[in-house]
Amino acid sequence: MTAMPATVLIYYDFRMLGHNPHGWDPERPEWTDAVKAMIKLQYPNANLDTYSHPERPERLTAIVDRLLLEPIEGVRWMLPAPAGTAQLERAHDAAYVAHIESLDGQSGWLSQDTTAVSPGSVIAARLAAGSGISAIEAIAAGEAERAFCIVRPPGHHAPADRARGFCLYNNLAVAAAHARKALGYERVMIWDLDMHHGNGTQAIFYDDPGVLVVDSHCAAPFYPGSGLLDETGAGPGLGYHLNVPLPMGFGNAALLKVFEQVVRPAACAFRPDILLVSTGFDCHYLDMVCNMNETGYAAVTQRMSNLADELCEGRLVLMLEGGYSAKALADSAYAVSEALAGKPVNTFNVLADDPGCAAASDAAAFHASSIAALKNQTH
Ligand SMILES: [Zn+2]
Repeated sequence: MTAMPATVLIYYDFRMLGHNPHGWDPERPEWTDAVKAMIKLQYPNANLDTYSHPERPERLTAIVDRLLLEPIEGVRWMLPAPAGTAQLERAHDAAYVAHIESLDGQSGWLSQDTTAVSPGSVIAARLAAGSGISAIEAIAAGEAERAFCIVRPPGHHAPADRARGFCLYNNLAVAAAHARKALGYERVMIWDLDMHHGNGTQAIFYDDPGVLVVDSHCAAPFYPGSGLLDETGAGPGLGYHLNVPLPMGFGNAALLKVFEQVVRPAACAFRPDILLVSTGFDCHYLDMVCNMNETGYAAVTQRMSNLADELCEGRLVLMLEGGYSAKALADSAYAVSEALAGKPVNTFNVLADDPGCAAASDAAAFHASSIAALKNQTH
């Protein structure tokens, strides 16, 4: 006897392919030079004659092609509604939203580590930011418990007032703010497991005790250079930000340890109304400098699903962040979708130890008092 598959809502809109931050513009050689310098820094072996901007439309088509090639029982394809201005302004300054909107239909340079926007970027960004809202609304309406937003541009490097690190709007922050303000959820928990620190998400919620953030990432000085252990929140949000900096080379075992020793105990103490995951597939061994694989991503997703079932009636939304290898993206997103649909994950080949495990335990020890204090929250 097999269990019924869980329904998984997958949010995707092909207009998100219209964002082309390639930066190769013969009339703006300074854009091209800046993008090439960024690529050379992160991918020293890249052939710049054939390699374009890493945050490119093929990231999404690789995932979608794979999901369509081998359909997963339980998956329902959903179209997101673009985020409205008022929804964006819950996480972003009005002047910044107005600036991005003013670029609609144009090409433009935003920042050295973000590169350019193309004529299709503004609607792509609104759809990416709207996906999480659509997912949370559908879950609140009882259509499903779990959703996966396959979006670009990504979001977690964008703070309230500027574009950074390939990100225009902070998609997950817009979704979290919607859950709090529109749906009345008192406590939202985020796990950002992208390989890079989610500096934008941290900045937006740094003093907000309604949003608990765990962020595991490659330690500074790796981009963006923030996410130190002692960045634990400010004011009423002190103790609601739990950074877990890990060394280059960390793998599946380290991330499972982060789940067991930080995410799970923090969630049990905080009792969130919904779990949100900034899901970046750049920890995959085919991508940059870490050693996870699709099995590890599926395993942590299965654990997050079980945790959501235990604490918040199953409400779980995954939001795509980074990941720049087409094969790693396709394999990981497929394995994660299968896990969300309830397929058991076989972890027999997950190594028991890797270069990140000791740092994960150290971070858990560092945060133990903050996690214990979450039990006494009064709001
Ligand atoms: Zn990343």
